[in-house]
Amino acid sequence: MALRAGMCRWPIGDQHDFKRFRFCGCACSLETNYCETHKKLASAPNRPKSIPVAGNSLMSTIKTA
Ligand SMILES: [Zn+2]
Repeated sequence: MALRAGMCRWPIGDQHDFKRFRFCGCACSLETNYCETHKKLASAPNRPKSIPVAGNSLMSTIKTA
């Protein structure tokens, strides 16, 4: 499913399982990337983790080395 402007890009499903992973795709305003429901979730402190940034710990390791 291709995301376009005005479509909610809230990730649904397992980001490592491409067969099941998809985006919400609900209509949303162009200024925001999420629909009303997910906009609230996105601003909540317990929002789902995005794709982990691999290398962060590695970077700090290199800096301290
Ligand atoms: Zn949504």
